[in-house]
Amino acid sequence: MDYRKRFFVRPGTQLSLAAIDPAFAGEHTSSSSALAEIQRNVARMDELQALLYADGNQSLLVVLQALDAAGKDGVVRHLFTGMNPQGTSVFGFKQPSAEEAAHDFLWRAHQRTPARGQVVVFNRSHYEDVLVVRVHDLVPKVVWSKRYALIKDFETMLVQNGTRILKFFLHISPEEQLARFKQRLEDPARNWKISEADYSERELWPEYVAAYEEALSRTSSKSAPWYVIPANHKWFRNLAISQIIADTMAGMGLKLPPTRVNLQEVTAKYHAAAEAQNQRAGKAPKDCGKT
Ligand code: AMP
Ligand code: MG
Repeated sequence: MDYRKRFFVRPGTQLSLAAIDPAFAGEHTSSSSALAEIQRNVARMDELQALLYADGNQSLLVVLQALDAAGKDGVVRHLFTGMNPQGTSVFGFKQPSAEEAAHDFLWRAHQRTPARGQVVVFNRSHYEDVLVVRVHDLVPKVVWSKRYALIKDFETMLVQNGTRILKFFLHISPEEQLARFKQRLEDPARNWKISEADYSERELWPEYVAAYEEALSRTSSKSAPWYVIPANHKWFRNLAISQIIADTMAGMGLKLPPTRVNLQEVTAKYHAAAEAQNQRAGKAPKDCGKT
């Protein structure tokens, strides 16, 4: 199944999250049937990232957005650990610092966008400024309502500058979220993830759904697509996202750069160096290196 087609939020349509089953898993029935495919996709992502780096003309920005416990951290951990750290970075957007809050809302995001050859993952993003900010009335409606158009312009500018943008909303059900909150309580290794806000934010589920529906509907485009990823099954979430990223990178027309040197000349230099090396080795006394 082509998940890019299946989960793309079509521009100009009003998204209804209620119409999308968060437990969808396609033809797969368990993690074991999906695992080999996930591993293949992750290996492809790794190879394509090396090519993106070598090519040096384009970049990739992956945006992850979701309600709490939907698996943003899991996506980073499971899908991006294969990539070379030299060309990959992840940035988590928290509540703005005093300095960030003193600037326009896109300032902090723009500083983190990928340079040519780089992959950057946004764990939360500039979209928080039309999500949590809207739900909690952190700025007046007259301010946040203008941000959809500003975000589109910002992303268009990035795309025109050679950045591919992929945006994923991890879609879970309230029941699944509660089950994951329970795991966080019961597993000491996960206790640190618990926040008081998890429960107060959960109360605002319908408000968040409305905010997400509007944000995704208004800012999804062919060049900066949103995908709604059914995420109740962690393995299906990993499968769908890894396939979309790998397929997109494969379609970016990445190529190895041309050789910058005259290969014949360098080959001659190599042979001369090898010859000199052999001679040095031949002349060296047999006990060379012994004390
Ligand atoms: P976490 O992702 O669990 O580490 O939490 C980060 C928190 O920062 C979340 O509660 C976000 O809603 C919040 N946050 C991120 N961006 C903004 C923003 N622009 N304004 C207010 N809160 C934000
Ligand atoms: Mg959290």
